[in-house]
Amino acid sequence: MKVLVLTGPPGVGKGTQASLLKERIGALHISTGAVLRSEVESRSSLGRQVEATMAAGDLVEDEIIFMCLQRALVSGKGAPRGGGIVVLDGVPRNLRQVGMLDDALGEVGLRVDLAIALVAQVEELVSRLSRRWSCSACASVFSLEDAPASDLRCPTCGALGAVKRRADDEPDSIRHRFMVYDASTAPVLSAFASRGLLKQINGLASQEEVFAELKEAVDRIL
Ligand code: AMP
Repeated sequence: MKVLVLTGPPGVGKGTQASLLKERIGALHISTGAVLRSEVESRSSLGRQVEATMAAGDLVEDEIIFMCLQRALVSGKGAPRGGGIVVLDGVPRNLRQVGMLDDALGEVGLRVDLAIALVAQVEELVSRLSRRWSCSACASVFSLEDAPASDLRCPTCGALGAVKRRADDEPDSIRHRFMVYDASTAPVLSAFASRGLLKQINGLASQEEVFAELKEAVDRIL
């Protein structure tokens, strides 16, 4: 199995592209953010522990992240259909996590084969994030100019009144998440670049154009 790290600033489209890889080539998509959001949604003790940190746009403790990641790797084992690829969306987020990831993958005979950074200017991403809404029932994500009316049905699953803004997509958290990205996550790109594993893709191209470039890079490691 090959391992792709998909990285880039908030709102650049990592989740969308990872979902496309899952849908179209059967990749196993692991999003640490999505795992944590479902813990928050279900009011588990882990969810309650991380809720405030996430809402503020800060990073959750490395140890918690790796516990979630290890669980997802074990429960997803054998899940990839044709592709045999696991896409890590949102991890590693700092340099310590790069080392922790090497160790965690090494234990199961894997390593990072490719890191793709989706890149874009901050101003465009801030505007995208302020229009981002998602369904708390089916987790699909979409763009809306205005706050949704209370009788809006989710365009994907039809759930009533379930369309909400992520707590960390509130304007103050958005700004903070970019600061955290610059300080903690941007150095991760250099770490993968120095290993010759990094490819950068313009995240502002259309969804299909980004996917085409991504897929071409992925095909080279399969
Ligand atoms: P995301 O969906 O990837 O934007 O993640 C949402 C939030 O979950 C982040 O802002 C962090 O609070 C937390 N989170 C997700 N992945 C990590 C990680 N690798 N390290 C620390 N915190 C994380």
